[in-house]
Amino acid sequence: MAERLQNYINGAWCEASTADYLDVVNPATTEVLAQVPLSPAADIAAAAEAAATAFKTWRRVPVGDRIQYLFTLKGLMTDHLDELARTITLECGKTVAEAKAEMQRAIENVEVACSAPLMLQGDVSEDIARGIDELMIRQPLGVCAAIAPFNFPGMIPFWFLPYAIACGNTYILKPSEKVPLTLRLVMQLIEQTGLPPGVVNLVNGAKDAVDAILDHSAIRAVSFVGSSPVAKYVYGRAAANGKRVQCQGGAKNPIIVLPDADVAMTTRITMDSAFGCAGQRCLAASLMVTVGKAKEPFTEAIAEAAKARVVGFGLEDGVQMGPVINDQSRDRIHDLIAQGIEEGAKPLVDGRNPSVSGYERGSFVRPTLLQDVRPDSRIAQTEVFGPVLGMLHVDTIDEAIALVNGGQWGNMACLFTSSGAAARQFRYEAEAGNIGINIGVAAPMAFFPFSGWKESFFGDLHGQGRHAFEFFTQTKVVVERWFPDWSRQF
Ligand code: NAD
Repeated sequence: MAERLQNYINGAWCEASTADYLDVVNPATTEVLAQVPLSPAADIAAAAEAAATAFKTWRRVPVGDRIQYLFTLKGLMTDHLDELARTITLECGKTVAEAKAEMQRAIENVEVACSAPLMLQGDVSEDIARGIDELMIRQPLGVCAAIAPFNFPGMIPFWFLPYAIACGNTYILKPSEKVPLTLRLVMQLIEQTGLPPGVVNLVNGAKDAVDAILDHSAIRAVSFVGSSPVAKYVYGRAAANGKRVQCQGGAKNPIIVLPDADVAMTTRITMDSAFGCAGQRCLAASLMVTVGKAKEPFTEAIAEAAKARVVGFGLEDGVQMGPVINDQSRDRIHDLIAQGIEEGAKPLVDGRNPSVSGYERGSFVRPTLLQDVRPDSRIAQTEVFGPVLGMLHVDTIDEAIALVNGGQWGNMACLFTSSGAAARQFRYEAEAGNIGINIGVAAPMAFFPFSGWKESFFGDLHGQGRHAFEFFTQTKVVVERWFPDWSRQF
């Protein structure tokens, strides 16, 4: 029988208090890698209690000492990079090169969180009135939690965790039940740093565990990343319970191509954006909008590149694209492609039902290009989260920007051009929180906020960078006056 995963609570690995387990499946081979528990509310309560107890002492540890654990963690993550990447490929399907790049981004967030001694500094004003001073200090919140999606099992928890603990909070991680093995390994590395028990806890599970996080009174802040319907639900329920909350949701990212864009570079970058990680990135290009004379040359080049992409098991050399996460996801993507065709789109390259030699049972979809997608069709508005690129055509950049802004999403929008004026207009007018100019995956570095807008984000402060330090602290303002004590003799 496959190994049954445990939770990590109060510095120890322990059985979940449930008999409900799900298989964790390698999507390329369908091998069962492990079984993950669907932990009930009692396990979240145990983690919250441990974290609340640990908070009492952890918040008093000087910030310079707190970040020493993060420096150690960075070293451990770097030393175990290959093992972490391999684990991601096995459970999530992406290529090992993609998995390594993902973990590199996680490590960068640990590095940025080590700036906490500077970032936690407050403000002081002397003499706001005669003899009165006022100061603002940043204090931790208490117990915080992250609820993660399946597509970046190693990176996404690091948009939050290192900042939270550097700020003096204690933490509960709830990985996606589809990919729990990467965070198990991360937790084993965290354990090696010698962090005090209860500072970081890991509880596996699905909806019951999420609901317990949203309802537990000791949990003060929740960070969520996943699909928009669940993001909205988490945002509403956590906020109604008085919690601070940030929820990053889904996307439908357009790439606009002007006739003056470089064909070879644009094609290569668009391919990587649309089909990298099998299109399962919240920053994947999913609509390509050609403007004016860009239509013909770019359509031809993109079709050739899509057909040439090497699909297979992500651990094998030369593979450029792995499977999607599971059979349900593959079937959902197939249905959306069929629906798009019914709505009038032409399958320029059809990636349905591929045969991948040696991996016939894997959850594969090949790169798919749908031409002449109508802006009002469902395929133009629904997040596919698979390797499907819809192609549209307009006559002017103004029409293209109107198309970007007409959608409900706002995670990313990109422009390919050699015109600075067009780039500036796009940067200024496009309604999306992450903008790429001749960039296909405009993923902010760890020291910038991951800035989704509209239906792609619910909340105020985003993950990473300065926003993270603000999210994980509450400000306290002190107004003080001291009377001279003339009677004291020194
Ligand atoms: P998902 O919404 O299905 O799951 C995310 C988390 O929510 C998981 O931990 C899951 O256990 C939990 N969950 C699922 N259904 C729930 C429910 N009904 N009630 C309570 N909790 C529930 O998302 P996913 O399929 O794991 O991830 C893919 C989605 O995440 C895509 O929409 C993608 O765009 C989005 N995503 C967004 C970003 C971003 O930064 N905006 C980054 C990565 C992924």
